[in-house]
Amino acid sequence: MESASSGREATTGGATVCPRCAGEDVTAVASSPVPGVWQVLQCGRCLYMWRTTEPARRTRRDAYPRQFRLTAADIADAAEVPPVPPRVAG
Ligand SMILES: [Zn+2]
Repeated sequence: MESASSGREATTGGATVCPRCAGEDVTAVASSPVPGVWQVLQCGRCLYMWRTTEPARRTRRDAYPRQFRLTAADIADAAEVPPVPPRVAG
């Protein structure tokens, strides 16, 4: 029942970047009950979350589907969510 040696920082090797936006502000938000099996990581820029045991296409920037990748410019230019139109009477 020793506690894991790693602390609160992102502990997956230091080179972890967000698969979706390549952001480097990645933090571990949850860890497996058995230490060292998996972590849930979150990108501080685009808020994408993933578990380290998911397939490469969900966890690695170089394998993430190209059509879903974001850049900093994409995020800055992202359109607002369209408003819900007013209710039609009747
Ligand atoms: Zn991101």
